[in-house]
Amino acid sequence: MQLNDLPWAAQSISDLGNTLPNSLLIYGQSGIGKRAASKLIAQSILCSENQNLGTPCGKCSDCDLFLAETHPDFRLITDEADEEANEIDTAASTKKSGQKNISIAMIRGLSEYVTIKPLRDRAKVIVIDPADSMNASSANALLKVLEEPPIYAHLILITRSPQMVLPTIASRCLKLKINTPSESAAIQWLKVHADSKHDRYLQLALRLSGGAPMRAVELCEDEQFFVIREDIFGELDQRVLDTFRLAELCEKLEPAQTSAIFNTLLLDVMCVQEGGGIQHNIDQTEIVERWANSKTGKDLVHWSDDWVEFSRSANHPLNKRLTLEAIFLKTPKS
Ligand SMILES: [Zn+2]
Repeated sequence: MQLNDLPWAAQSISDLGNTLPNSLLIYGQSGIGKRAASKLIAQSILCSENQNLGTPCGKCSDCDLFLAETHPDFRLITDEADEEANEIDTAASTKKSGQKNISIAMIRGLSEYVTIKPLRDRAKVIVIDPADSMNASSANALLKVLEEPPIYAHLILITRSPQMVLPTIASRCLKLKINTPSESAAIQWLKVHADSKHDRYLQLALRLSGGAPMRAVELCEDEQFFVIREDIFGELDQRVLDTFRLAELCEKLEPAQTSAIFNTLLLDVMCVQEGGGIQHNIDQTEIVERWANSKTGKDLVHWSDDWVEFSRSANHPLNKRLTLEAIFLKTPKS
């Protein structure tokens, strides 16, 4: 990964100049590449040949260690850490399951880590992603680190919006916004970064991702997603909904993908009802318009609450199928 691979973030990163404060808050919408940008900045701080932030040389021994995810002076703290480990995550271990909170134990581990001087003599960089995943005690523990960080320590916090982070934390950080690129720029980027056999999905994937290129590249390479989505819309097109079939189809997708389909459908329908255009499901205009003409705004809002609840509980495997069936039974009537 180089700065050129994130052209929409390059200007914001270059604007930082060469002096990085001890704490930086990177923000922008989901799927925009905030973690990739933070890692690029972290690598450039640790790079022994680097002159500019965000442009590590990629060749020195520090870059080698960083790219091998074994640099001793870099830590990534995420909410994906293993429950049993319950300690700060190393760059080498990006764990996928377990608790969804950055715990106070992880932040205490960070405080201890920060007090030990860098092993490679340059700096220490810690990325916390997402910074809004801390509870009150974790946030207060972090605040103590931010109040008096050692000169060599750099903390990079990541969030979708600075408002999601405690004001006392946000106010101590320099803020770096990563802007969403224009659709044409994002499609150009996708043409280079996504497999060309998925070209026909590029614009749709981008729209369903809210314009975020990195999320779109993942989506457009998941051909199965588009096949199942097509089947789901086929079912939604029926006069009488087959709730069991819909639940069966949705069960084949990641919960986040199911949420994305129905959240964007609801947004489009409500937008059309308000006199706007279809922003996301640009290939399903007939269904969106029919729903907009036949369903009440109140029913749509209620159903939308069910999908928000589904998104919240989506990581609990308990009764996913039954939950989906129950939601489809409550589909707004025409
Ligand atoms: Zn280097």
